[in-house]
Formats: sequence, structure tokens, C-alpha cells
Amino acid sequence: MTSYQLFVNGEWRDGGDGSYPVVDPATEQVVGHAPEASAADVEAAVAAAREAFEGWSRTGPGERAAVLHRIADALLARTDEFVPLLQAETGATLRVASSMQVPVAAERFRRYARGALEPAVEPLAPFPVAATPLAAGGLTSAVAARRPVGVVGCITSYNFPIVNLAGKLAPALAMGNTVVAKPAPQDPLGCLKLGEVFRDAGAPPGIFNVVTGSGAATGAALVASPEVDMISFTGSTAVGRRIAADGGHTMKRTLMELGGKGAAIVLEDADLSTAVAAIGSTWTFHSGQICTAPTRALVHASRYQEAVELLARYARALRVGDPLEPTTVVGPVITGQHRDRVESYISGALAEGARLVAGGTRKEHAADSQDLPGTGFYVAPTLLADVTPAMAVAREEVFGPVVAVIPFQDDEEALAIANSTDFGLYDYVFSADTARAYALAARLRTGNVGVNTAQRHPETPFGGFKQSGVGRDGGSYGLAAYSELQSVVWQS
Ligand code: NAD
Repeated sequence: MTSYQLFVNGEWRDGGDGSYPVVDPATEQVVGHAPEASAADVEAAVAAAREAFEGWSRTGPGERAAVLHRIADALLARTDEFVPLLQAETGATLRVASSMQVPVAAERFRRYARGALEPAVEPLAPFPVAATPLAAGGLTSAVAARRPVGVVGCITSYNFPIVNLAGKLAPALAMGNTVVAKPAPQDPLGCLKLGEVFRDAGAPPGIFNVVTGSGAATGAALVASPEVDMISFTGSTAVGRRIAADGGHTMKRTLMELGGKGAAIVLEDADLSTAVAAIGSTWTFHSGQICTAPTRALVHASRYQEAVELLARYARALRVGDPLEPTTVVGPVITGQHRDRVESYISGALAEGARLVAGGTRKEHAADSQDLPGTGFYVAPTLLADVTPAMAVAREEVFGPVVAVIPFQDDEEALAIANSTDFGLYDYVFSADTARAYALAARLRTGNVGVNTAQRHPETPFGGFKQSGVGRDGGSYGLAAYSELQSVVWQS
């Protein structure tokens, strides 16, 4: 059994407070032990990042680009080591683990290797300024220059550990920042192993450090540190709120990617097979542990019955079980505690009057034909119909393979329901009339809208309205997120 170590200043060190087991959600076996960082470990990691900042922030963009390309190469070279580790600690199906973790993370390093070369200085038009008691008049020039923020604490959620982290780390490094990462307690091993990649790539020590811990203390120590300039956070809205409050004491810059409660509005003219496949991604893509999942299917009353039937057929056909079986589509959720939480939303919805059409908790499932494996934290793809917007399952984030179907009568009602939660991360509109869908998008209080697709565009700004987040990353927006704007003014 491998015991992993913290990665601080390019060196490995044991966690000052010992270690804790990381469990495979499918087998319930220990995958490895992660270090439990002490307060002194966090302080050492922050000090290393602070010291490295001086040199790294002054390197040329070409040098930063070369380092990021070497990191992508080194990561890909270790694909065979990363895939089984990431698969085991996340419980992702083999298909997701092999295609959507290492290659996507490597592509993020490549994207921001190119990003390091993007212009960081914007010239402003010369401005004729009259003489004032402050200074002589004259034609005055200026630029707006993007400078690195400094030391960035990257605190991430579970599900796609190295992909999430690379989405922060790569643009932060490209802009000349240094990083202390604090991965999720449930699946931190791949992120710790990234230390090997940085060493293989000959990256300067201290530009990337990783500290882990089983509880909130490690992340909280980063948020409290006056030597950390920015917190880039992906996780729940509850923890984001806490970080915003605690980080306010030292006026931390924050980028917050928080929870979601995606609405998929299915208009009366929609192609239902397209809509069902997209909504079905809540079941098929990492067991619905995806912040952008279309978990609320809002369906026009004239298509409601048909949509419920098609969704039910889709859900029942999905194979649930061992993520290592190539035919498995739905693997486990991350922990037993999380499975219980997801189940409590299902039972709560049934108690509030929703109708169970497919799946259900283990209790309902025991009576069903498709048994769930006895070991592992499985939730069957669940479809709840006749849900009302007031039910908890329609308002709160479940983060599991659960779809709630809600009927609506007209566009106004669909918009009102879609906008009725505290979240605003990713909504979807399905319609044969894309101009109508585009007009509806403008009235959705959400950071992202998919029209007839759940597919992403990697260059778009990504982030949330309302309590789904603050700020944007993605494409070149990610570079802006990890920079401070500095004005430089001169007269010639
Ligand atoms: P979480 O909020 O419980 O934990 C996220 C991270 O915060 C973990 O690393 C955790 O250890 C750390 N943390 C906990 N308390 C802290 C504190 N007081 N100070 C500093 N750090 C602290 O989230 P989770 O359960 O790991 O992930 C699921 C959530 O993440 C869902 O809400 C999901 O929507 C969200 N998510 C959002 C996005 C996005 O891009 N918007 C992507 C993936 C996941």
C-alpha cells in the first residue's frame, strides 16, 4: 500500500499530522494513504511558493510556455500510472478515467503554455490632459498591463481531481503566479503524484506545492494565511461562502466555482432524443457528480408524458456496477456518506409527493430486478416525475444520478422555474427554433447556456451567476482570472 507524501518546494515530505486512508468507492478498499498536513506544513508550502514567486514571475513568457509544455509531456508519459490511480480513487468508469482525466489535464497545460504567449499589455489611446496643480499638461499615454496576483491557493473538489487542478494551475503558472494546491480529501492521490510530473519536467521548485488533509483545516489554513494572495476554489456553495468570509480578513482575491442546479428547458418543438441524451448525462457522466449537470428537466406539458417515458427507458437501460467493466456506464458515487445524502434527497422527494419512475434508493431497488452490487457506494440512475419547483430535490444540489422532471405550460413559466433556485451555473434549452432558444438564454440567470447540446466549448468563459460562483475562467478568461491589472502612465 503506497503512502503518499506532501510536495513542498520540489521535495517530498511526510504529513506532520500523520496520514489517512483514501478509499476506492467501488471496492471500499484502501487505495493509498494521503498525508495529513500540519499547520507547519501549510506554512512551509506557502513560504516555498512565496520564495519561488520572485523568480517565476520574472521569467519570460517563452520560458513559462516551455515549462508548461514539458509538464504536459511528462504527464502524458506517466499515463499508465495515473489512469489506474485516478480511476481507483474517484470510482470513475474506465471509459471516463482513461479518456477524460489525463488527456484533458495535459491539454490544459498545453492550452496555457500557448496562453503564456498571449499579449498581457493593452495600449490605451493617448489622452490630451490639461495642466493641473498635480502635474504639467500634455499628451498622456498609458497601458493596462496584466501582472501575476502572487501566491494562489487552489482548493478543489472531488470528481476530476487533476483536471480541476490543471484548470487552475496551468493559467495561474502561465501568468507568473505560484501555487499551493489543496485537493479534495476524497481523491487527492493523483494531485500529489503531479509532484513527480513537475520534477520530471524540471519545473523550478516551489512554483507548485501540494498539501492534503482529511478535514477542513488544511484549506482553512491557506485561506487564513496573509502570504496567500488569492484563493481559487471549486466546491460547494456552503464552503465557498465560508472561504469568502474568512478570506475577507486579508482581502483575498477569489475565483469561486460553486454548486449548480442545471435546468434543461425542453420546448414543445424540441427533438426529444437529443434532449433525453443530454439530460441522461446526469446518469451517465460520473454518476451525476458534475456541477453543470442538467438535473432538472423542465418539459412543456404537451411533451411531458412522452419525455418521462423516454427518460425512464434510457435510465433503465444503463448498466450500473463495477467501473472496471467496459460495459458499465454508471459507477459508484464518491463515499458511503455521499450515497446516503443522495438517497435522502430521493426519499425526501417521494415523501413530498414526487413519483419514482426509475431507480430509487437501495430500499426501493431491493424490490427491483436490477440489483446494485453489495459492495461499493452505488446509486441507481433515478428518475423522479411530477416534481414541483418547491421540493428540495428541485432546489438543492444533489450531486448524484438523480433527474427531477417538472412540467411547464409556457415560456414564462419555464423561465420562472429555471431561475427559481439560488444557483445559476449551467442551463440548457432544447428547441427546433434556435433563435427562440437564444432569446430565452438571455433571460436565464445563469453563467452558461447550452442550446440543444450538453457539449462544452473550451474557450468560453466559465463560471456562475448568483450563488454558483464569482469570476470566470476558461480559455483566455482564465489568464485574466489569475492576474491583477496595473496601469502605467507616462508623458512623452
Ligand atoms: P466541498 O465544498 O465540500 O469541498 C471542496 C474543497 O474545500 C475540499 O478540498 C475541502 O477539503 C475544502 N474545504 C472544506 N472546508 C473548507 C474551509 N473551511 N476552508 C477551506 N477549504 C475548505 O465540495 P465537494 O463535496 O468536494 O465537491 C462537490 C461540490 O463541488 C458541489 O457543490 C459541486 O457543484 C462543486 N463543484 C463545482 C464545480 C464548478 O466548476 N462550478 C466543479 C466541480 C464541483
